[in-house]
Amino acid sequence: MSQVVITVSPSIMTEMRNNYNSMLSDKQPPGSVFVAKLPSCTITAYRSGKVLFQGSSAETEAKPWQSGAGTPSPKKKTGKKVGDHKFAPPPTISTLSAIGSDEVGTGDFFGPMTVVAAFVDKKQMPLLKELGVRDSKGMKDPEIIEIAKNLIKTISYSLLVLPNEKYNAMQKKGMNQGKMKALLHNQAIHNVQKKVSSYDAILVDQFAKPEVYFNYLKGQPTIVKDSVYFATKAEELHLAVAAASIIARYSFVMEMNRLGKENKVELPKGAGPIVDQAAAKLIQKHGEDVLNKVAKVHFANSQKAKDLAEKANKRR
Ligand code: MG
Repeated sequence: MSQVVITVSPSIMTEMRNNYNSMLSDKQPPGSVFVAKLPSCTITAYRSGKVLFQGSSAETEAKPWQSGAGTPSPKKKTGKKVGDHKFAPPPTISTLSAIGSDEVGTGDFFGPMTVVAAFVDKKQMPLLKELGVRDSKGMKDPEIIEIAKNLIKTISYSLLVLPNEKYNAMQKKGMNQGKMKALLHNQAIHNVQKKVSSYDAILVDQFAKPEVYFNYLKGQPTIVKDSVYFATKAEELHLAVAAASIIARYSFVMEMNRLGKENKVELPKGAGPIVDQAAAKLIQKHGEDVLNKVAKVHFANSQKAKDLAEKANKRR
């Protein structure tokens, strides 16, 4: 007897249930949503999203659901993942005209946080692919810069830069990074909404659970909620998020260069030991207060840098 297991989104599961409505069985194992008995296949759907097909026609029966589910097999090379919460994007998301948003700089000690929302009309997709827009994770800065320069002339977007001084002030007042991100994503998306005449969907590169995201936005004058979807690795799902990510990274790189020039040092990315050393040098040059202007001071790097700077001073 052959056996196939697939994972589907809740909407696909509902569709499956409706499809097999006339063949549903009363006997259901624990944790299952429905059991359908077909002449040569038994289908058991579980709350986890897993669906088990057993019987000689298991493979043929499972196939159509697999392709539409968006999460056929985690090993497939696309790596596209569609979450199973109610803000999960529809399986067709990549083909829709959408506003996408993403941020950069949250894990870097030096430099601002940059958040971008960008609109990509489905008609623009071939052109954007031509420009090289894609998931930018593996890209080096020169490529990011080159693509971004073309991109900002081509699409509607909103770029918000949260300078370090402002970031540090907000952080000291007790605001966490998640809330800062939520406020900026919401604002950037709203800015783009005002620029474009119509769109099908809004896709946020997920950094918090949707409930948490909307909780952060409580009390804001405008909360964009209609047609908003969340997904992790959303830059793989839609060119609008990939574009937003590229512009955010471009802006971050430019800001880092500017801050470096102003302070006559090279500012490394990330939050590792090289960053501690660079920060220590900065402190020796300009004093501790300089960090407030160029870094996210609540990171552990601050103390490490101060210790390094002190040691260096003693050695003099
Ligand atoms: Mg992101």
